[in-house]
Amino acid sequence: MMGRQHYDIVVVGAGLVGLSVSMLLEKLGYRIALVDPKTQPAPLSEKFDHRTYAISPASMRLFDRLGVYDAMDRSRITEFFDMQVWDANSNGTVQFSAHELGRDRLGWIVEHSNLMIALTEALFTLDNVDRITGSVNAIEQDESIVGLILDNGEQLRAPLVLGCDGANSRVRSLLNMSAKVRDYVQHSILCNVEIELPHAQTARQRFLTTGPLAFLPLPNPHECSIIWSTTREQASQVVKASDSDFHSILGAAFEHRLGAIQSSGKRLVVPLQALHTKQYISGRTALLGDAAHVVHPLAGQGLNLGLMDAAALAQVLGSREDMTLRFLLNKLRRYERMRRGENLAMLKLTEELNQLFCDDHSLTRCLRGTGMQFVDRMTPIKKWLMLRAMGDVGDVPIIASYQSELK
Ligand SMILES: Cc1cc2nc3c(=O)[nH]c(=O)nc-3n(C[C@H](O)[C@H](O)[C@H](O)COP(=O)(O)OP(=O)(O)OC[C@H]3O[C@@H](n4cnc5c(N)ncnc54)[C@H](O)[C@@H]3O)c2cc1C
Repeated sequence: MMGRQHYDIVVVGAGLVGLSVSMLLEKLGYRIALVDPKTQPAPLSEKFDHRTYAISPASMRLFDRLGVYDAMDRSRITEFFDMQVWDANSNGTVQFSAHELGRDRLGWIVEHSNLMIALTEALFTLDNVDRITGSVNAIEQDESIVGLILDNGEQLRAPLVLGCDGANSRVRSLLNMSAKVRDYVQHSILCNVEIELPHAQTARQRFLTTGPLAFLPLPNPHECSIIWSTTREQASQVVKASDSDFHSILGAAFEHRLGAIQSSGKRLVVPLQALHTKQYISGRTALLGDAAHVVHPLAGQGLNLGLMDAAALAQVLGSREDMTLRFLLNKLRRYERMRRGENLAMLKLTEELNQLFCDDHSLTRCLRGTGMQFVDRMTPIKKWLMLRAMGDVGDVPIIASYQSELK
């Protein structure tokens, strides 16, 4: 058995949320252990990563203030200025535009690997973060300390532990923190495709009764990253289809809005679920990101919410000072109050939108069409929806708040 190492904070999980919160807290003066079984992210390959994210302006401001925006390979990032959303089964269409808000863009499409590499490299420059390779196997906490045992026998102790270990969080299960989980009975197919017509830096999403199909613009004007959420059965058929069958099924599902699908990369299928924990804190431990909440990808918000958790937690903790239970609990409760309502609102919104568009009843279809036309004409509602998706509504952490446009 190895010796015990003592830190101010142990962050469990070096995904995008764990990396971000570690950087934020190190800059506030804390000594951090960042634990993850994975070592280094894979280098960027010539082909685009099929895991891409729509990153909101609020999240990008956070990355900018952490020095991560400049560390990314900017030639592989796409700004999008407009977004078109339409219903496959009614005349409902909504067109969102950054121009209407007087903003430079609605967001960015960024590869997972580009972000992981930039964050990991930025983290390496910090003196007070130890990367520890391992998986958490046991946690015990009392009034004054939390003790963790890793699968390699290593033991860590800290007055605060942050569970950033994703949707199947071990921290959450070891501490018996209950979560409400709902299986969407949908899977998402992820793939990068070459399209006939230029995407014009517009994100597009068509709502089918089986689920939404999004085409997100990549730097090449003729390439998009698709996220197609559909029934399990259709996903398993589509993923096995020949390239030419896949191109015609996908093109038809998208009404050929960008012409023919000309080629495609690797296809990946992921099951979808909704998850929300009843509490974000248990004693001296707090959950962040997917460990606390998992939302449907239709609004491209899961990671953005997790990044705001990281920013909010760093804001309420402030600089390194008293970590006695009473002080710490006050701060952790403030974090929970700041984030739980925001995350729950997005969970409900995405769940209700998904249900609404999957309902094939003729009356619902008619109301949907009329409702979407109404929203499209009602500039204040549309503006509010855009600002919500951009992360600029609600209790926005100071570090991510809007001051000016990023260059
Ligand atoms: C199809 C799809 C599309 C999406 N698109 C978007 C989008 O456009 N925009 C957006 O904002 N969000 C999007 N999301 C959501 C986004 O992917 C997640 O919200 C985000 O990746 C969660 O990050 P995380 O760091 O919380 O968790 P994860 O990325 O799951 O990271 C968890 C980390 O914890 C580590 N870990 C696990 N167990 C242990 C353990 N026992 N000990 C130590 N470490 C451990 C793992 O190795 C991993 O590194 C999408 C999701 C899906 C499914």
